[in-house]
Amino acid sequence: MDILIIDDDAIDRMSAIRTLRQSELILGRVDQSDTAIEGIRQASEHGYDMILLDYQIPPSNGIEILREIRGGNDYSTAIVMLSHSNDEKLALTCIEAGAQDFIMKSEITASRLKRAILISQERHLLEQQIRANHEQLRYIAERDSLTGLRNRYFFDEALRDAVSKNSRSGEQLVLMLLDLDNFKKVNDVLGHQAGDYLLQEIARRLEQPIRKSDKLCRLGGDEFAILVHDLPQLEQVRLLADRILKSLETPMMIQGQTIEVTASIGVATYPLCATDATGLMKCADVAMYRAKELGRNRVQYYSADLHQKIVSRIQLEFDLKQALKNDQLTLYFQPQLDARSERLVGVEALIRWQHHDLGMIQPDEFIPIAEESDLIIEIGRWVIQAACCQFSQWVEAALGTHIHFSIAVNLSARQLKDHALSEYLQNCLAQYNIPAALVELELTESHLENSLSAIEMLNNLSATGVRLSLDDFGTGYSSLSHLSQFPFSILKIDKSFVQSSDDEKQRTLLKAICAFAYSLGYETVAEGIETEAQKRFCQSLAVNRLQGYLFSHPIAAQDFETQWLCQTGNSSGKAE
Ligand code: C2E
Ligand code: CA
Ligand code: CA
Repeated sequence: MDILIIDDDAIDRMSAIRTLRQSELILGRVDQSDTAIEGIRQASEHGYDMILLDYQIPPSNGIEILREIRGGNDYSTAIVMLSHSNDEKLALTCIEAGAQDFIMKSEITASRLKRAILISQERHLLEQQIRANHEQLRYIAERDSLTGLRNRYFFDEALRDAVSKNSRSGEQLVLMLLDLDNFKKVNDVLGHQAGDYLLQEIARRLEQPIRKSDKLCRLGGDEFAILVHDLPQLEQVRLLADRILKSLETPMMIQGQTIEVTASIGVATYPLCATDATGLMKCADVAMYRAKELGRNRVQYYSADLHQKIVSRIQLEFDLKQALKNDQLTLYFQPQLDARSERLVGVEALIRWQHHDLGMIQPDEFIPIAEESDLIIEIGRWVIQAACCQFSQWVEAALGTHIHFSIAVNLSARQLKDHALSEYLQNCLAQYNIPAALVELELTESHLENSLSAIEMLNNLSATGVRLSLDDFGTGYSSLSHLSQFPFSILKIDKSFVQSSDDEKQRTLLKAICAFAYSLGYETVAEGIETEAQKRFCQSLAVNRLQGYLFSHPIAAQDFETQWLCQTGNSSGKAE
């Protein structure tokens, strides 16, 4: 047993050593020190089993020395305080400050010292156990049980801590929020266990590029956070973020399946972006949201400008939900004319949003927002219902005379995930008594997925008897063989071809497209016709239908009636 005696009184030291020798304790090294400073130094250099510490070593106070020794000590040393006074309060203070026992010098006997040592050793063991339990509890409380990374609880504390530390030091603090792209798909398709394995593997990989001083945490689900200190240059932050994305690049093998995973990262820095921890978190979140929006697998840095954009976007999404409930959506109609007779043969329904503050909002602004959430499913259904309702009124007004025009409705590719859509469509047709053959559904080429489920959905829709039209044809990547898999019967040539038909190359392209469509038996619609010249050129190419501002802008139902339907016997041409 190694023992250190710190006491300024040589006689007291001698007597303590003598008593120790009589105590049957097996002594190893017994060192002495007559000053506090020297004692503290010795205590820090050698791991003693016990320190006998005099309470009074002028000019120091025993408690201060005790705290100093404890500060650098892991409680593996038993410290016994020695004092001339029998002050119980003082004894308690010493115990509280980390001493294991408190003995009056006059009471030092071999047996008392031996007992004190044994008791303090026992106490030390107990304390060690409590400490270990405490550490374990802390570990459990601060760790994510699936990945072993720190958890949200730890992260929240660490972030608050770091912000207050950095607000004093002025150093930059970097917060990266990382969210896996399409993790839900893995869970849905391969099951939760595979999802769990994937998260464990990701945690392992994320640990590689970051330094020991950085804090990597799993916040929950597929969301991770990395707190980075002392990376003063943006370039270094960029490099780190790139390394993180790169660490995920190699495909993962999970349950015998190869899975490719990417992530979106939002980065915000303190104090540049925010004034407190909550604000910093929000900023990183905003940036991450934007990274997702820009197409995932990327890093996005926060900026105030970005914040404003996203806030107004979120507001718009909220308003859009309300608009759907509160009847603020409406349909406009644009006529389509037969290219030869220039009579009305069709009408395209185009959605508009009458916003209470912002006025009329065009679909290009809000359809993409609706497409990001499931809102497009509801809006899409509303469009079908509203178009059928309006069309049935026109059919009725024709009073039994044969109606000469069809109605086209735009569908978002995301609506192909609405498995009950064809049933819904069928019900609408039945409810409004509309012949399916008079209805066309337009789908944009570039958004079309070549998946089996998409093809199946299109076949179901087509089976209801409506016709399918491929919108913005020429802007996507439909190869000819690809096209033949889909049940389209109409190609709507994108307006960019029509409008650049002054250009010789574009003219040749438009010609080729028409020849191709004609030879495969597709009906063609040329849209975006604004000038007489464009119209004549399309007519010369034997396009079937024409649509564009030259004939009419999209207009409200009422205007469409007066301008195109009102005069009897003129249901197939513009009303004069
Ligand atoms: P789109 O289906 O290609 O619709 C044609 C767009 O071209 C319409 O814009 C129309 O107003 C515009 N347009 C028509 N003639 C001309 C012309 O001569 N010159 C020019 N420059 N433009 C012309 P709009 O109504 O703003 O619609 C934009 C897009 O929003 C549509 O493109 C369509 O993709 C989408 N959209 C519109 N309504 C709906 C809807 O009910 N559901 C879905 N999912 N998407 C819709
Ligand atoms: Ca369209
Ligand atoms: Ca179009």
